[in-house]
Amino acid sequence: MRDKVILACPKCEERNYNTKKNKRLHPERVEYRKYCPRCREHTLHKETK
Ligand SMILES: [Zn+2]
Repeated sequence: MRDKVILACPKCEERNYNTKKNKRLHPERVEYRKYCPRCREHTLHKETK
């Protein structure tokens, strides 16, 4: 059971990444450090709907 998640930059709220996760392993919102091209830096992207 893998579901699509969208990772959004918390600063500019740009949705930069699509990924997948296993909701049984990660029932809560996941966070990843990713590069945001709009902010031009790494930010802690958070799962969004
Ligand atoms: Zn950003």
